[in-house]
Amino acid sequence: MAAVNTAFSRELSKFGAFDFNACYNCGNCTAVCSLSNETDSFPREMIRFSVLGLEDDIKGSLKPWLCYYCGECTTHCPQQAEPGELMMSLRRWLTSVYDWTGLSGLLYRSLTATVAAMTAVALGVLAYAFHEDLHLEKIMHTGHLFEMVAIAAVFSVILLPNLVRMWYFIILKPGLRIPVKKYITSLADLFIHMFTQKRTLGCDDSQVRWFEHLVLVFGYLGLLFTTVFLDWFSSDSAFVITLGYVVSIIIFTVTIIFVGERIARKREMNSKSQPSDWMFVVWLFLMGISAFAVRLFSDLGILESNTWLYLTHLIILAQWALVIVPFGKWTHFLYRSFAMYFDKLKKS
Ligand code: SF4
Ligand code: SF4
Repeated sequence: MAAVNTAFSRELSKFGAFDFNACYNCGNCTAVCSLSNETDSFPREMIRFSVLGLEDDIKGSLKPWLCYYCGECTTHCPQQAEPGELMMSLRRWLTSVYDWTGLSGLLYRSLTATVAAMTAVALGVLAYAFHEDLHLEKIMHTGHLFEMVAIAAVFSVILLPNLVRMWYFIILKPGLRIPVKKYITSLADLFIHMFTQKRTLGCDDSQVRWFEHLVLVFGYLGLLFTTVFLDWFSSDSAFVITLGYVVSIIIFTVTIIFVGERIARKREMNSKSQPSDWMFVVWLFLMGISAFAVRLFSDLGILESNTWLYLTHLIILAQWALVIVPFGKWTHFLYRSFAMYFDKLKKS
């Protein structure tokens, strides 16, 4: 018999869920959801599981990741039980379940812990910079090394074990046996979903939203590639310099649009932003604009006398790499892509 967690509603409310206990099980939300079908019926089922505290069933489900938060269900709910927000909260909760360190859950639940983590990272960068007597060349060299080490370490120490835990809850624990060949032949789906998020197009409101996300994903990956692998800040290549400017402009332009949409709350998905949602988009904006400014100051020959600018960029970058990527909303990008992959494997 499935274990029941009677405190689940209370626990989930710390991840953003509203009063989903108001649900009277009418099924409107599932009927209007354009991504729900006979095989994958949601969000009503997830609401029932949450109300009943069926924690293990939710842990083993991919349905929270199959929702792309268009908000239609919330708009049509006669009880204001906020089914769309519940699905978003379940994604945050699942993120904390997959994370072996427990830090995701802590940061989602506590703004104080988040501020403390971001401050600690900033102080660490400043302490290093003063230790090097604010020597710009040395700090920039270390900053570039940090980017490469942080990517490798965060992926191998945090994200990879978390993906294995996700696989355990979804595939291994329920006793599914999937041939290795299937894992390999389904890999294309993983990357297609990762880079295109094409399932968003199934939502009724989705064309513009999908395009904005697509541009952002390619802008972000472009900036990562240009700064880390092409060493944009030190490069003399006109192609690399131009590419860096283009992708950083893309990032801060698209994120300005995202911030504007969150402030205007035109879409249901933007109407109940949590601190983690704000941090994701604001830090992406800061990364794009600070990287742009660093390279511009360098090209104008005034970066040497403005060490503070590179330090500001490095602090933003370190906070992004050490807090937001491994424990914050960035992980949704990864888990959602793997959810589509695991879904394909399960259905095979
Ligand atoms: S969440 Fe709202 S729309 Fe969905 S089943 Fe419950 S009451 Fe009905
Ligand atoms: S937010 Fe949209 S995709 Fe998600 S469950 Fe509701 S209607 Fe479906």
